[in-house]
Amino acid sequence: MPSYHATITGPDQAAMAALVNKYKVTVARHTVQKVAGGFRVDAHASGTQLRSLEKAGYTVERLEDADKTGKARQKEARKLTAQAVAPEALKVAQSTGYLNIDEVEAALAAAALAPNKAFTKLISLPNKTWEQRTCHALKLAKGSGGTRAGIYLLGGVHAREWGSPDILIHFVQLVCDAYRTNTGITIATKKFTAAQIQSIVETKDIYIFPQANPDGRHYSMTTEPMWRKNRRPAPAGHTQTQCVGVDINRNYDFLWDFPTYFDPASPITNSVDPCDHDVYIGPSATSEPETKNAVWMFDKFPNIRYFVDLHSYSEDILYNWGDDENQTTSPSMNFQNASFNGKRGIANDKAYREYLASADRTIAVGLANKMRDAIKAVRGRVYKTEQAMSLYPTAGTSDDYAFSRHIVNPKKAKVYSYTVEWGSPSNPTPFHPAYPEMKQIIDEVTSGLLAFCIAAS
Ligand SMILES: [Zn+2]
Repeated sequence: MPSYHATITGPDQAAMAALVNKYKVTVARHTVQKVAGGFRVDAHASGTQLRSLEKAGYTVERLEDADKTGKARQKEARKLTAQAVAPEALKVAQSTGYLNIDEVEAALAAAALAPNKAFTKLISLPNKTWEQRTCHALKLAKGSGGTRAGIYLLGGVHAREWGSPDILIHFVQLVCDAYRTNTGITIATKKFTAAQIQSIVETKDIYIFPQANPDGRHYSMTTEPMWRKNRRPAPAGHTQTQCVGVDINRNYDFLWDFPTYFDPASPITNSVDPCDHDVYIGPSATSEPETKNAVWMFDKFPNIRYFVDLHSYSEDILYNWGDDENQTTSPSMNFQNASFNGKRGIANDKAYREYLASADRTIAVGLANKMRDAIKAVRGRVYKTEQAMSLYPTAGTSDDYAFSRHIVNPKKAKVYSYTVEWGSPSNPTPFHPAYPEMKQIIDEVTSGLLAFCIAAS
């Protein structure tokens, strides 16, 4: 089980691939960098794993014990309580600790009440989680009409990434207050005018689904800080704690059955083992209630044309695709073409690359850069706009699923799709940083999302 946050340096790309293929280390995919003596990645691993790596010649720098430090962080969040929390305690701007899972739901419900009723609507997601929780989303829009673009913001998919629901609740609270009072929003030196906020709410439909995996988030906030998956019960006969759960963001219907589609040598960060601590893909595509809920939003609101899934960490804005490097010249070399099965997921080769039309690439990168610039304006952090594929590919993720929908079925809308990985690898417990740091991340990502909503049209 991963416990230590560490940097791991290996001599070449093959050694970096082995971290995933052979040593089953949890790598932060987009943190691979070329350094003296090879390549370095930010990662989480157990003490046993780190000792094996050192024996095999890797250089390991142990940062913090993520379990121990995470336990301390758990104490900073408020406990669940049967009593209603005072409304001011639900204001992220005034909060001194992460919202717990009930507070996220309470804050979302509060946003749909007076005085915001004329432009908000609470949406009940149809699938209860394994622990029988009901999730909600919020629609933020004044007026309606056929040509309005829908923008879908998702958070809380990975249990240990505690801050994404707080970011989205803060976004909702800021936009509701500014719209209602016809004022602008200022975040550090970044200014959004009253007219821009009015325009977001009156010409677009914003759908916010802040906490997709409440069971997992609660477990991470109270029991095992490094928990990532949902809480699907373990298969019969499997008693280890890590045999519980599915990785929601490997469970979407995009190249889900990766052993069929990928090169056996690919260092893909997916697993068919239910007891994999982090990246078990589930028994079938879209098997999980949490995945079904996230997908239901696209089906229920077919005007959604933009999608951002918030994750941590590494300070990246990722656009399609995640299964292989992009190419713009060969449309038939694509994820639906079975003649490329067994060839996907190797970096720096020509056997397979995923097709992305250059016009789509231009739009995808342009919007990502708007987000990047607005994030940077808050305190200077530079998030990298990158393709989701890195040395380490993925399958079954939300962003690739969302963009693939219109290719699989041309009647569906084209959805420009992103994964934002907030927070720096140099933060201790980067999946859930200390709240004073998280507040700054909340500010910068909120700024990025506002710029994104303004630019998306
Ligand atoms: Zn994540």
